[in-house]
Amino acid sequence: MANILGGLKPTALWKNFEDICKIPHPSKHEEKIREFVLSWAKEHKLDHQVDEVGNVIVRKPATAGMESRKGIVLQAHLDMVPQKNNDTPHDFLKDSIIPRIDGEWVKATGTTLGADNGMGMAAAMAVFEATDLAHGPLEMLLTVDEETGMTGAFGLKGGLLKGDILMNLDTEEEGDLCVGCAGGTNANIKFNYTEEPVPADVQAYVVKVMGLKGGHSGVDIHLERGNSNKLLNRILWFANNNFGLRLASIDGGSLRNAIPRESSAVITLPKASTDAFLKFVKEFTMTVTHEYKNVETDLAVSAEPCDKPAFLIDNKTTKNLLNAIYATPNGVMRMSQDMKGLVETSTNLAIVKSENKVIDVQCLLRSSVDSAKEDLENMFAGVYAMAGAEYVFDGKYPGWKPNMDSPILKEMLAAYEKQFGNKPHIGAIHAGLECGLLGGVYKNWDMISFGPTINFPHSPDEKVNIPSVEKFWAFLIETLKNAPKK
Ligand SMILES: [Zn+2]
Repeated sequence: MANILGGLKPTALWKNFEDICKIPHPSKHEEKIREFVLSWAKEHKLDHQVDEVGNVIVRKPATAGMESRKGIVLQAHLDMVPQKNNDTPHDFLKDSIIPRIDGEWVKATGTTLGADNGMGMAAAMAVFEATDLAHGPLEMLLTVDEETGMTGAFGLKGGLLKGDILMNLDTEEEGDLCVGCAGGTNANIKFNYTEEPVPADVQAYVVKVMGLKGGHSGVDIHLERGNSNKLLNRILWFANNNFGLRLASIDGGSLRNAIPRESSAVITLPKASTDAFLKFVKEFTMTVTHEYKNVETDLAVSAEPCDKPAFLIDNKTTKNLLNAIYATPNGVMRMSQDMKGLVETSTNLAIVKSENKVIDVQCLLRSSVDSAKEDLENMFAGVYAMAGAEYVFDGKYPGWKPNMDSPILKEMLAAYEKQFGNKPHIGAIHAGLECGLLGGVYKNWDMISFGPTINFPHSPDEKVNIPSVEKFWAFLIETLKNAPKK
């Protein structure tokens, strides 16, 4: 293949990126790219190692006169998201990504480009193979499987890396410095119920809450959108207490990390109270439409008659469930005290579903502050213990609390302003990043994340901005040159 990106600067970074494009490396298939990096390390006589989960570590000593600087770990992930257009006959396990230049951008041809995170890898390699840069002791950490489970970051052991500073190269907007992320915990709750016969003199209905916007349970949680499980529960709870509603089945939400947009329940009512119930549903619809008028314009509630269900959920369990769902914390719990506008702690009541004598409730708890997440877990434990449910917390991963006094942040702010004449944007994300996990293992690390501008990652429209790569590189080598002393 001809050298497509040969004319771009910095030359070494773009050459490495083009080489990376040639090697298939979708998530969970990092063998070939790992071999490529290892043979590259051998060729450049760099100390290297593969850990037990397949992460690659490469080491480079300090350049002359820089031995007293703090050690820096340059980190990127080995894998890329394999997405292609329907009409693109591309095999991500065999075929090379074909990059092409389009104005100020480099794109692929009908596929994801893998600039996320090939740019980070290519930059780290360019630093390690350079002979004309000044830097302290360096380590490179390339993780596997960032995109589909972060198993590389989850599996990284302590003691392998000696550095003091972690520079993650996986942020997608040049001029952004990311200094924090949220950790997570799954709350899994079970109510066991018994099935009871359906009385003769009842009418069955399907009650639905629909048309909500939903969104990502982390990065969209501050938008105060409606939660269909919570809204449906308001109807069921009230009608259970006032109109003799009985629950036959319930089904709300679909993904743990999505704000639920649609929930439904099959219920029965004594025939004598159907009119009062339908009037209440109408009033409730008006009430919530008003409550959410600025965020949920397509909110719809319905109650349609249906066939009698085969059984009812026993009423004690129904009451416990409806009380507990009402009392379950949901949405933003606390805003960050370190960074204005950042959500610190939140929770999403994602799924409520009955099946085979069990009602499952699934929630996702997030916080950049681990102790706040534990506090939130205890709120759940309190609610669901009172409701007589079984609950377990799993899938826990730590957050990364923004440290506005971070030495590397201060140095990079100064370096950026000096180089480019404007201040970078300091941000954090209310979702999981590898840094949270890595910092959970290496608790002494001062961490920061940055990178060139990449648009539409994870899609066939993915593209990386060429001028931003040059700035990213200049900023990276200047930062290494000015690394804080030990
Ligand atoms: Zn990435």
